[in-house]
Amino acid sequence: MIPTKSYAAQKAGDTLAPFNFERRNPGPHDVEIDILYCGVCHTDIHLVNNDWGISVYPMVPGHEIIGRVVSVGEHVKN
Ligand SMILES: [Zn+2]
Repeated sequence: MIPTKSYAAQKAGDTLAPFNFERRNPGPHDVEIDILYCGVCHTDIHLVNNDWGISVYPMVPGHEIIGRVVSVGEHVKN
């Protein structure tokens, strides 16, 4: 498992706050990225607020990222 630092919402409409969790180890089809920066876009705001009724908490928003590739699974082709 990989210890991971993030900012998360614990419930709908929550303010993002520091949150630690563990990611599973990367598999043969995964690319591992050391995330350096991320954006929080309007889609993330809708999800934090559960505007579409599909959100799961705790939630770590921010799907637009910049980082460095640190490992590539043996089955990754592109
Ligand atoms: Zn977006």
